[in-house]
Amino acid sequence: MSEEKFYFQSEAAELLQMMISSVYSNKDIFLRELISNASDALDKRRIECLKDSELAENKNPEIKIEIDTDAKTLSVSDNGIGMSRDEIIQYLGTIAKSGTKDFLKAAKDSNTPQELIGQFGVGFYSVFMVAGKVEVITRKLGGSETFKFTSDGDGSFTVEDTEQRSECGTTVKLFMRENSDEGAKNYLDEWTVRDIIGKYSDFISWPIFFKDKIINSQKAIWQRPESEVKDEEYNEFYKHLTHDYRDPLTRIKINAEGSTNFKGLLFIPSEAPFDFFMNPDSGGISLYINRVFIMNDCKDLIPQYMKFVRGVIDSEDLPLNISREILQDEPIIRIIRRSTQRKVFGELKKMLENDREKYAKFWTAFGRVFKEGIAQDHENAKTILSLAIFRTTLNDEWTTLEEYESRMKPDQKGIYCLAGNDNITALEASPKLEPFTSKGYEVLLMTDPIDEFILAQADFILPEGSKDWLNIARDDVTPYSDDEKKANDEKLKELDAEFEPLKKLALEILPDKLESLKPSLTLTTSPACLRDGAGGLSLQMERLMRSAGRIVPPQKRVLEISATHPAVKKLAAIAETDKDMAGDILRVLYEQSVILEGEMPDDPAGFVKRVDKLMTLALGDG
Ligand code: ADP
Repeated sequence: MSEEKFYFQSEAAELLQMMISSVYSNKDIFLRELISNASDALDKRRIECLKDSELAENKNPEIKIEIDTDAKTLSVSDNGIGMSRDEIIQYLGTIAKSGTKDFLKAAKDSNTPQELIGQFGVGFYSVFMVAGKVEVITRKLGGSETFKFTSDGDGSFTVEDTEQRSECGTTVKLFMRENSDEGAKNYLDEWTVRDIIGKYSDFISWPIFFKDKIINSQKAIWQRPESEVKDEEYNEFYKHLTHDYRDPLTRIKINAEGSTNFKGLLFIPSEAPFDFFMNPDSGGISLYINRVFIMNDCKDLIPQYMKFVRGVIDSEDLPLNISREILQDEPIIRIIRRSTQRKVFGELKKMLENDREKYAKFWTAFGRVFKEGIAQDHENAKTILSLAIFRTTLNDEWTTLEEYESRMKPDQKGIYCLAGNDNITALEASPKLEPFTSKGYEVLLMTDPIDEFILAQADFILPEGSKDWLNIARDDVTPYSDDEKKANDEKLKELDAEFEPLKKLALEILPDKLESLKPSLTLTTSPACLRDGAGGLSLQMERLMRSAGRIVPPQKRVLEISATHPAVKKLAAIAETDKDMAGDILRVLYEQSVILEGEMPDDPAGFVKRVDKLMTLALGDG
């Protein structure tokens, strides 16, 4: 087939444009990315050959770097798996990562797009930071045709048949751009290239040839004693693995000997990758067997709620031809998983005890995923709870449950919690806290979606011996002792006659919204708030289910009003005599409470009209 022209998928074209105009500070990484791709291609070829005996084994797998200073080209070649024509178009012409659109928008709006680009994992397109034109010549393993991809990054590329490569594999040839900026590195310089490879690619397990000599040590970094490896080398390895441009938050080294022998080099990133929450396949641990790469993102090596852990596990005992399907049932994998999990718990515990600031960083990035373990992993729920940190009404610091419990008042019935919308400031302002904080009780403030599930299911998922978790959004959870409750009930009874007409009116005007209206003696400054009835879904749960696309029937709430608030008292007094005015004010009270929950009133225009009317009344209209 003759030359055919294609256009990059629009997201790919946009990313390319960013690369070309990029001031991304670390251009060296284009070479790391190319070598990384070549190394992956060799891994893939090896695995294919293991699976299919028809395919010839690769006798001399290699990566080759060549520089031609006259032609101003730099090439990276491998004799790995190669690409078919369709694969070239698919892999090089599109970006398959989920969330790419959101990412690009964020990068465009950002003051430091170069950092975001790094975080995205720049991949193949990073070549356009340094090259004006790129040629990829490739032949797929088992295929008989060789194709050439050419692009100058301007939004289109061509694919054509070309002279047969003698062996399968890929050559990426970069036609370097003239260096315009002063001080920019010359990537056609032999020592620059050696330097970059030494820094970023030394641990690549395949030989990298440059000027007919192997220039990488090929030592698996996780096999080397920690005392011999510099922090910087570990960090570069982490970056190679994850495409993250930041150093990791922490490193976990495992040297397991006993019933099964394996080594692990794991990292916790310092921030969540941009697609971490959207893309269930991002991240994970790579499995090696005796230094030979087996697979990326081996899900059986680590529980789902620890998927933020990145790195490598290298087993001595597994058979090389192990298949994905049987991994899960493989006893050795289960042992590795348990011991890795234990090690991660241990490292987190150390960090929590010794470096709270670092731990808070970890928690901000990954706490909400980690906490899911409370619901997913019964056996370790207690450990996970002991590693969880929370915001509270006490101060701006994070607290552990143990610390909270040590501050609990002797008469406190359980752990008081309030879960709400993502937004800590809104939660802190919630009137629901007043009865508790005014009596000196501390309340845990929970902003993650999973918190609401933990609260709703606390009886089932929290381990035995845990203190009761009391969700103060519920109208049957109060800060009273039995005596106080009795006294309070009696006082409220005395108010019955005063509030009866208002209760009736409330159910008359908001029959679908309210289960009841309850006067309260403990709302100290706010006139009203919404509480969840004892049955039915909590407001937060209703919100979560809606955002997950579930259809939830409207739930009725309890409107709690302050029996001591002067305006509310006047309102109660006119509930029968001026129903129109009382009705409007009641509606506004209800709508205000909805807003305090971080929601929009059903009828915003009606709300504004009512407030307007009340303002006019208060100020007069002339
Ligand atoms: P990533 O490596 O993160 O997937 P890249 O942009 O670097 O993203 O590469 C896109 C895809 O192109 C790779 O996933 C791979 O399938 C293919 N590819 C790139 N380089 C090679 C190569 N040297 N040999 C075979 N396939 C390659």
